[in-house]
Amino acid sequence: MKSFFFASFLALATGAAAHLETYASCAALEILHSKKLMYPRDTQYNVTNENYFDVASVKRPACIFLPESAKDVSDAIRILRITKTKFALKSGGHMPGEFTNIDGGVLIATERLNTLKWAENDSVLQVGPGIRWGPVFDEAATKGKVVIGGRLKVVGVAGLLVGGGISYVAGEYGFSCDNIKGFEVVLADGTITYASETRNKDLYKALRGGTSNFGIVTRFDMDTYDLPIGYSNIGMVVFNPAPGVDFKPAFMDALADFVVTGSAADVKSGAIITVTRVPSRGMSLGMMSLWRSEPVANATTDTPDVFKKLVTIPGQHSANNLPLNVVANTFGSQESQGDGGIQLHLHNTFRTGSYIADKDLILEIEQIHEEEFATIADVAGLSATITFQPITQNNIRVGASKRGGNVMGLENRLKAGDDRHFMWTEQFAGWALDADTARVDQVQKNIYNRAKAAAQKRGLWDDFIYLNDAATDQAKDVFPAFGEKNHMFLKSTKQKYDPTGVFTNLMPGGFKI
Ligand SMILES: Cc1cc2nc3c(=O)[nH]c(=O)nc-3n(C[C@H](O)[C@H](O)[C@H](O)COP(=O)(O)OP(=O)(O)OC[C@H]3O[C@@H](n4cnc5c(N)ncnc54)[C@H](O)[C@@H]3O)c2cc1C
Repeated sequence: MKSFFFASFLALATGAAAHLETYASCAALEILHSKKLMYPRDTQYNVTNENYFDVASVKRPACIFLPESAKDVSDAIRILRITKTKFALKSGGHMPGEFTNIDGGVLIATERLNTLKWAENDSVLQVGPGIRWGPVFDEAATKGKVVIGGRLKVVGVAGLLVGGGISYVAGEYGFSCDNIKGFEVVLADGTITYASETRNKDLYKALRGGTSNFGIVTRFDMDTYDLPIGYSNIGMVVFNPAPGVDFKPAFMDALADFVVTGSAADVKSGAIITVTRVPSRGMSLGMMSLWRSEPVANATTDTPDVFKKLVTIPGQHSANNLPLNVVANTFGSQESQGDGGIQLHLHNTFRTGSYIADKDLILEIEQIHEEEFATIADVAGLSATITFQPITQNNIRVGASKRGGNVMGLENRLKAGDDRHFMWTEQFAGWALDADTARVDQVQKNIYNRAKAAAQKRGLWDDFIYLNDAATDQAKDVFPAFGEKNHMFLKSTKQKYDPTGVFTNLMPGGFKI
């Protein structure tokens, strides 16, 4: 009771707009788990609350709960449900926007759910949702294994996995979520359950792309594979390094070759290739982290065919034969770096589009991106990146073939006799000041709208929205694009596992079905 009044007083004193039920929930959690419940007065509250990729995610929860087990999560869900308290769920906190925090409610942050445990004769690595990819890759490597996760070590595990997941080896292994053997999940009524190919099959499918609509994942049981040692090239090409010199045409030509045909023809290849603009420095550059799951005799001289064009463009290139975990731990490896190694900004945003992969369309979209960002070059601390991510037919088919397939429905977009592939754009922008947010958002939208129109004109538009790269206003379009059948399946699965809408009504953040 003392805690209850203290918490109420404190929240009022700190100006947090919270309701009585929130104070009751915080107090109840404090009674049950005093060392795991943080108020604004606690140092840990600020550490957790400020550890987000985008400043828009930093809010003022009345208290933060840091569960250490599935049972703790279950306790929290039961309390929040009974008291009808609003809450938010954060794992790595990398999704830009307001998905993962809440003003005046309870924030559940999974950072202490950081299990890394081997199971099933070392064929499965059990991974807690609060961990990041770096330690996961490192643990897998201790046994000469790799899991199919993300591409940067600093990024969170849970959001990426329940939203799909693109890795360097997606072309060969499918999406990251296709490589999860089972999920331990806390459901809306507080039940701790397991979803796999043989238990709660519907939930298992729904969690592979359906994100936080069904429960809180407290453990991912991940398939492991032999750790590949392969060709890696991390590089950078400044487009205009000197007056009269322009490497952009060559870079875009090579990028488009990889995205449209190269990646599909060579299933062992994967990459992040971006065009990055830093208007304050009047600079545009191409950045790349190239991977091929086979080593070469001499990485400096023997470039795999699929990357030859990219690597011969003058710039900085660091080519090596490396284990895949080392590549993930190298590119964009500092927490202070965002996509492509540009210094982290206060504000970060994503926006994504999907297209049939096509060279002329890539060139046109890149041009649109340049023109649009030129109109706001004065925005303080602005950097902008566009990534063209190849999504090959093999990537989609492999995913669909694993244990009943994920729920994204991409295989239904493949047409007999059409051997073209998809490409997903990821428009990233970072900037310094609140005052510029509306201008940056507008430019991001303009690029998307113009790119869509250009693609429609060429008959290359595709309406899929990749959840993990989506802007907040794109959230509503994510699940309808899974196809009517899959969308209906998600709705009925939601009704079965969360009939009262705990993860919809009480947890307002996130992508809703
Ligand atoms: C620098 C950077 C690099 C990236 N690189 C890649 C990449 O290579 N490949 C790729 O596919 N994506 C990439 N992404 C996108 C990334 O997948 C998403 O940002 C993802 O949401 C990150 O996961 P997270 O744990 O940080 O999620 P959070 O931001 O914590 O959460 C995102 C969503 O997941 C939900 N969620 C979180 N935890 C759980 C849980 N335990 N159970 C159920 N739902 C949960 C949240 O409620 C929220 O809706 C990158 C992002 C950044 C910022």
